[in-house]
Amino acid sequence: MNCASVIRRVSSYIDGDLEATIVEEIELHLKTCRDCTILVQQTRLTVRLYYDSDLVDYPVEVQARLHETLRRKICKDPN
Ligand SMILES: [Zn+2]
Repeated sequence: MNCASVIRRVSSYIDGDLEATIVEEIELHLKTCRDCTILVQQTRLTVRLYYDSDLVDYPVEVQARLHETLRRKICKDPN
């Protein structure tokens, strides 16, 4: 599994919405890839802020930054 494959599945991964074998592959990748580890942490945090917070603006801003990170990442490492 490469970075782009992890990125495509990150929200499903956090939702616990993936097959065990896919989760294993993602976690294997996370052990060796700091970028994706940070991405997962950021996405988890964003999701938590989004659901827990009454402040609408903040999560949106975080999400915008996250999407920017994702876009750069996908451009850098297609496929
Ligand atoms: Zn990666």
